[in-house]
Amino acid sequence: MGLFDSVYADCPHCGKPVEFQTKADEAPYMRRYTLEDAPDHMLQDILNKPHHCQACDGWFALLDQRFPIVPPRPAPIAAKVKTPTDCGVHEQGFKWWPWERRFTVADLETATPPLPNGER
Ligand SMILES: [Zn+2]
Repeated sequence: MGLFDSVYADCPHCGKPVEFQTKADEAPYMRRYTLEDAPDHMLQDILNKPHHCQACDGWFALLDQRFPIVPPRPAPIAAKVKTPTDCGVHEQGFKWWPWERRFTVADLETATPPLPNGER
């Protein structure tokens, strides 16, 4: 217990590496990463969390505007999906999506997914 992984990011004030600890992995094991080679789920975990740099006494946070500090409330829109040729079929007629392949925008009837009202 108490294991974590570390992602090091350069302080924007002084340039020294600062450690961001994460327990986002299923099995944290004191691994060390940089922003370039850290797995996605670890990067997501360390976003928007201000850290203190002991070298210069400055504070900074790792930001990505696609992952806002306060996430917007989901506003789902029902989009038509092309009928898959490889879906599962139950003898009583139930069908389910073939999850062994990834669902992408290419599966949508329209080229781009619709956005919530007022956004473009
Ligand atoms: Zn610093």
